Amino acid sequence: MKAEVFRVQLRHTWTTTMSSSAYRDVLYTRFTRDGITGWGEGAPIVRYNETAAQGAQTLAQMTDFFARANPRQYTKLLADFAKRVPGQYAMKAAVDIACFDWLGQRLGIPVHQIFGLDPADAPVTTFSIGIDSPEVTRAKVREAAAYPVLKVKVGLSTDEATIEAVRAETKKPLRVDANEGWKTKEEAVRKINWLEKQGVELIEQPLPAAMLDDMNWIRQRIHIPVIADEACLHPEDIPKLAPHFDGVNVKVDKCGGLLEALRMIQIAKSLGLKTMLGCMVSSSVAITAAAQLSPLVDYADLDGNLLISNDPCSGVKVVAGKLSLPTRPGLGLIRT
Ligand code: MG
Repeated sequence: MKAEVFRVQLRHTWTTTMSSSAYRDVLYTRFTRDGITGWGEGAPIVRYNETAAQGAQTLAQMTDFFARANPRQYTKLLADFAKRVPGQYAMKAAVDIACFDWLGQRLGIPVHQIFGLDPADAPVTTFSIGIDSPEVTRAKVREAAAYPVLKVKVGLSTDEATIEAVRAETKKPLRVDANEGWKTKEEAVRKINWLEKQGVELIEQPLPAAMLDDMNWIRQRIHIPVIADEACLHPEDIPKLAPHFDGVNVKVDKCGGLLEALRMIQIAKSLGLKTMLGCMVSSSVAITAAAQLSPLVDYADLDGNLLISNDPCSGVKVVAGKLSLPTRPGLGLIRT
């Protein structure tokens, strides 16, 4: 298992309530056995106190573990690995993905087939519009003409101007992500009631993750589903969130891999929650991996690779807005 830090360059400076950046460092992994190499990627972010450099350092110390590990017994392998290394979920995602890519290639089947899924069930993906001036926002919306549903980032003082700029360009359905940006329940209700009138179909993480008790007060006063993102990192979070949200945004980088993401999707469904598969800014390795599970979810927001300009490979495509999974073995990646 080899690890390497790679810097992805954003097409537009990427701004959310959390940060503003022109690039992001992701962690690539390569697992080689029997002449086959599986690729993995994890995208650590500051919100969760993880870095790619830390992940590479940890993996450099685990050479013996992976030399002895059996990737055919991936459930055991990933559980043993998680026991040895606390935290670092994006790094764990890179390990999990490399194992699945390897196994799929070894078995000669795409990863979605390992999970028994039908690629025809893959949903439409949203395309994300980061926070910017009204002029740049309008230009971004025009560039996103190929995507039938947009996800717009808000949560700063410019929310109304942002949505008005989007609406000046398009009537498409919008999903809105506040990234914990609103600080009181009253502010959240005021903003959401206004967004409802602008044709917004769902709202993600309106309040800081810790403000769980205010969520039902909000939900009694609004008419669109509320999805938890920053409040929902791991499988054990979901039962606590179920009474307070309508759905959860599952990300491979938050939970530590496809196997954990699958568990989260199943737990969320069993509790009657809507499910979204989201992503970080990352390349086609991570996005194609997450897309393998997309036939299971209600909403996909798998566009991290579309936001960068130096993607070293291609995999999942977006065709008429819908995710189109490669039919090649493993993740089905091609180096570009
Ligand atoms: Mg989000």
